[in-house]
Amino acid sequence: MAERYLFIDRDGTLVEEPADEQVDTFEKIRYLPGVFTHLGEIVRRLDYKLVMVTNQDGLGTPANPEKRFWPVHTRILETLAGEGIIFEEVLIDRSFAHEGLDTRKPATGLLQSYLNGKADLGHSYVIGDRESDMELARNLGCRGIRIWQKAEGKRRNEEEERLKEKNGRGKIKGIRVVEKWEEVADYLVRSEMNAEVHRKSRETDIRVRVVLWGNGQSQIDTGIGFFDHMLDQLARHSGADIEIIVKGDLHVDEHHTVEDTAIVLGQALREAWGDLKGLQRFGFVLPMDDARAQVSIDLGGRPYLKWDAVFKREKIGELPTELLPHFFRSFADASRSTIHISATGKNEHHKAEAVFKALARALRQAWSGSVSENEIPTTKGMID
Ligand SMILES: [Mg+2]
Repeated sequence: MAERYLFIDRDGTLVEEPADEQVDTFEKIRYLPGVFTHLGEIVRRLDYKLVMVTNQDGLGTPANPEKRFWPVHTRILETLAGEGIIFEEVLIDRSFAHEGLDTRKPATGLLQSYLNGKADLGHSYVIGDRESDMELARNLGCRGIRIWQKAEGKRRNEEEERLKEKNGRGKIKGIRVVEKWEEVADYLVRSEMNAEVHRKSRETDIRVRVVLWGNGQSQIDTGIGFFDHMLDQLARHSGADIEIIVKGDLHVDEHHTVEDTAIVLGQALREAWGDLKGLQRFGFVLPMDDARAQVSIDLGGRPYLKWDAVFKREKIGELPTELLPHFFRSFADASRSTIHISATGKNEHHKAEAVFKALARALRQAWSGSVSENEIPTTKGMID
């Protein structure tokens, strides 16, 4: 089976690049800040294999003699290995740029075996400091993460857009511009905070997919229009991508559909946010015209719902209002969260919507902590 790889540049990415662009004495070895902690964390938590891809201009010529290069290079590899950062392969191109060889980054001559099925390129990354590293990502068909030295007056997202434009939007799978290794770890860990749960019973057949760090996109079809609208708010305002497809026994009533959707959604989110490393406990207050909703949430493993809202209408659209607290209770149970909700207001539609939006915002805050903190936010040291 094809494996996921991180193709990592050396100079400017693992060790700082000196002004003369040659790391050829021990004194010149300066590791990038955070590389041991955060690349180490990536290696421990995620199942990527590592390959080093580096251009060493004129290695073996008088301009870059081997006897100066190898002791220093070996020391770098040994030090990284001591922290569990082990490269499966180290690919060094020795040519000069003017020779135009196909082995030199951004060309892929040295990486043929990875192009020929060894790597799952759709889920692999090139990590490097130069634009040519991002071109290599494009040429390999994988994503790129650029560790960027911020230039004065330049914004990171503008740099990201510029690189996407340069590499052809349709051609490059994705480019992320970061400024330090901590952000690389955050990004890679967060991109795995996803889950898919399918639950089928005699009453309902439910599929839920969540991408916690998405764009707030949703595809919701429960058969209950107003409920779809509420779940849509949950996705949009939490930033998660949420897909919920429900075939429920609506010919009986709405009860099983609402309850089971809460259960499966709660399970999926729980699975996506995983062991809570770096996650927080948060709350949110949200006004919406006449209505005001307050939601506080603790993802800490204790299911509990405190509900303080009164709905006078029997139904909003096709959704019975008595099922609202039932939804949140089932969601709290399945996601193993403590949730306190209070809502006031005259317009019942606004009130319900404010509750879903406030929950979404509270969730967003709760899972937005630095995931590479590597600390579980409880003094017990674990969430049970
Ligand atoms: Mg470099």
